[in-house]
Amino acid sequence: MAELVALEEAQNLVLSHIRPLETETVPILDSVGRIAAADLISDIDVMPFAHAAMDGFALRAAQIADASAESPVALKVIAEVAAGDAFTATFGDDECVRIMTGAPLPPDADAVIQYEIVSVVSGDGLPGSTVAFTAPTKLRNNVREAGEEAHEGEVIVRSGELIGTAGVGFLASCGVREVPVYRRPRVAIIAIGSELVPADERPPFGKIRNSNSYTLAACTQAAGGIPTILPIVSDSLEDLTAEIKRAVESYDFVVTSGGASNGDFDFIKPAVEQLGDLLLTSVNMRPGKAQTFGLVSGVPVFGLPGNPAAAFCGFELIIRPALRKMQGMTALHRSTIRARLTDAVRKKDPRRIYLRSTFSKTSDGAYVVTPAKNQSSGSFGVIQRSNCLAILPEGSGSCEAGDEVSCILLDVPEEVVL
Ligand code: AMP
Ligand code: MG
Repeated sequence: MAELVALEEAQNLVLSHIRPLETETVPILDSVGRIAAADLISDIDVMPFAHAAMDGFALRAAQIADASAESPVALKVIAEVAAGDAFTATFGDDECVRIMTGAPLPPDADAVIQYEIVSVVSGDGLPGSTVAFTAPTKLRNNVREAGEEAHEGEVIVRSGELIGTAGVGFLASCGVREVPVYRRPRVAIIAIGSELVPADERPPFGKIRNSNSYTLAACTQAAGGIPTILPIVSDSLEDLTAEIKRAVESYDFVVTSGGASNGDFDFIKPAVEQLGDLLLTSVNMRPGKAQTFGLVSGVPVFGLPGNPAAAFCGFELIIRPALRKMQGMTALHRSTIRARLTDAVRKKDPRRIYLRSTFSKTSDGAYVVTPAKNQSSGSFGVIQRSNCLAILPEGSGSCEAGDEVSCILLDVPEEVVL
């Protein structure tokens, strides 16, 4: 299967072999950024009781129905109720209760007048004082009602919802302490290449440090997966098949880089073919045409090109959506946004090109994109200094400054529709 397929076809092919993983129950703090695998239910009303939304005075609206600036209504302050306290007694028509934010509304009251618009007639506003009201109030003024956010027994987070940072606090208020979520995929990262030395070594002449494994592990983490960097494998079919065979026993997804073309020492395709089903070998994209995908013992194995930028693009565009699907996510692809090129770009290659670029907004609000001068597929440093991939469609020729192109904003979550 040496067919060159469109990126969308490659993405769909890989996704068609991916299912959400099984679920696990985790403490709420570990559920952030993950998908709820069941409906979550509140065990109480939230808030559990009607309470003051402001510091002020609790009273019955009828007591001050006729109040005006010319004829204020004066009431005696008979008690103070703080957050955490309760005042459950009744009070007379010429009385009111000083109340703090978060304190339960006394059952005999139906409104709270904020402190700032009440004048103190005698005393200091504390119990024993007299205070005056110069305007009537609506019923339930400055009152947050019981159950305003959730009712006991109500579904507060639906199965399939992404749990966010605020959601964790919501769950805590509703008595949910653990959440069933989809398991994070365990991803094996294998660098292939006899020229590679571990990153903690100084490479002798002819060798280079294995940098791909670090970026691919970081990309895995950013996609919600759990990466393990396995030892470097030399350019040997035997070593590679042995390592992949081992990896598929313990991991949910295997990502390799290097050895991906058709050179004399490129073994990822024959290795996958020998061990399982080889389903994809090349994608119409640049950088990174040599993208290999297959199944070995039912486990997805993806062979990225060795060139750093090609490996990065292949991961972000094809593997990341798959890892998201494994976690029950349904927003799988990043949105694109249109921007005007600040510079002309020459395009001779008929493939679709992903230019490592910087996206920004001009002072008059227009979106513009500047492709990095260095588009070498051998460089991670350029991507470090970029924030998007500007897309030059397949087939079409060079672009002029001012032409509009689509850009994939890296680091903008898939849930954000641009
Ligand atoms: P390959 O896909 O094996 O032909 O590799 C293409 C280029 O990427 C070569 O220049 C390799 O040395 C380089 N390369 C391959 N693997 C890595 C790696 N793990 N880290 C950094 N560069 C790599
Ligand atoms: Mg190689």
